[in-house]
Amino acid sequence: MPDLRFYNTLARQVEPFAPLEPGKVRMYHCGPTVYQRPHVGNYRAFLFADLLRRVLEQRGFQVTQVMNLTDVGHIQGDADAGEDKLEAEARKRRIDPWELTRRVAEQFFADLRALQVRPAHHYPRATDHIPEMVAMVEKLLQRGCAYQVGHNVYFDVSRFPEYGKLSGNRVQDLEAGARLEINPEKRHPADFALWKSDPAHIMKWATALGPNGFPGWHIECSAMSRKYLGETFDIHTGGEDNVFPHHECEIAQSEGATGKPFVKLWMHTKFLMVDGGKMAKSLGNVYTLDDIAARGFSPLDLRFFILRSHYRGSLNFTWEALAGAAEARKSLCDFKGRLAAEFNRIIGYDPNQWSPVVAATREAFQVAINDDLNASAALASVFELRNRYLRGQLEPSEFRWAEVFLAEVDDLFTFLEAGHSGPDFTSDQVERLLQERALARQQKDFKKSDAIRAQLASAGIVIEDSSSGTRWHRGGI
Ligand SMILES: [Zn+2]
Repeated sequence: MPDLRFYNTLARQVEPFAPLEPGKVRMYHCGPTVYQRPHVGNYRAFLFADLLRRVLEQRGFQVTQVMNLTDVGHIQGDADAGEDKLEAEARKRRIDPWELTRRVAEQFFADLRALQVRPAHHYPRATDHIPEMVAMVEKLLQRGCAYQVGHNVYFDVSRFPEYGKLSGNRVQDLEAGARLEINPEKRHPADFALWKSDPAHIMKWATALGPNGFPGWHIECSAMSRKYLGETFDIHTGGEDNVFPHHECEIAQSEGATGKPFVKLWMHTKFLMVDGGKMAKSLGNVYTLDDIAARGFSPLDLRFFILRSHYRGSLNFTWEALAGAAEARKSLCDFKGRLAAEFNRIIGYDPNQWSPVVAATREAFQVAINDDLNASAALASVFELRNRYLRGQLEPSEFRWAEVFLAEVDDLFTFLEAGHSGPDFTSDQVERLLQERALARQQKDFKKSDAIRAQLASAGIVIEDSSSGTRWHRGGI
């Protein structure tokens, strides 16, 4: 296998990968804030994490993967000021914030399933780890890295001279910058909140740090990554917008609390642009998987569209670009199907001897994907093999090897399935549709009840009617 190399944001260069413990990789991904359904842009970071894990696993590493769910109302920006978007959204929808996060998290997992993302080993939720966060804040207070003003606790950046090593933002530059608001409680404008107290908050806890408390955003990732992966672990990923302040602050907290290096390799995905710019509600271009399905695309088309480009390169989402990706994906599915249909033509296949042509293609693929996940170059070699086949330049004795290679490719990318065409429903949505169907049946509107059954079937949901009522399950699971 070719050497595995990744771009390390911390080192600002591509480096050979070597895990801390031979054969094992521990990695953490910043997950979603579950206050509204993730959009196509959010999925770039999550699909990248999935590809990274699969590449590591294909090389034989035993991977432990953790992705957090931010389900507590942290405050926007540098976690000190502004509106709590989770509680604001709950108010808008007139539901409890706990209920909101439950529903959005379930939707998120349904989306991940539709996108064929391999489940992480742990999805810790911030609200389940308040004691771990409080313990870390107390540790930082003991070590003199933090200070308390009333029931608020701030990290003292002057006590962590390496602050800025990830983002390149030096404290003295931040001081001059206008983007930090003036908070008279802080000793230095770049200090950030570890713990806040506010009786008006709905999601709040009474702890050793005081009443009505809730965590700053950054502390949750420091506390939860430590719990599941240890004080020092291999890889931490996130979107490029996480570099500062979020990851910079995580490093300060974790290294401040333990005195040990936090993470060896930091990897960040670039933003997904939409229509050449940023997504915005006002522009009506914040698309979810439902919008993708409504235009007749499979979630796997989106998966392929995102994963075929390099994670650090620019990627612009447009409907035309998605259609192009869907077409390209279809051509590879078609290639796979044709190879499978050729089974009776296969002659002279030697199971012990790779076809030189396919072996060279495989080598090119592996070199590219192991070179900082250069997916576009890797997939170019797959298309090259397909073209060779279409030109009649692949011998029947080589077809079986082409199939083996395609299976290896799909083990990483998973786009060679037709996938179910419909949306992926949450349990709540399924229950609601089943109620509608029961009502339609009562009213003898069988056209409607059949339509609902078909709608659920297109999402892979199987329903069974019996005398004791209707039961359902997800097909194949
Ligand atoms: Zn995080």
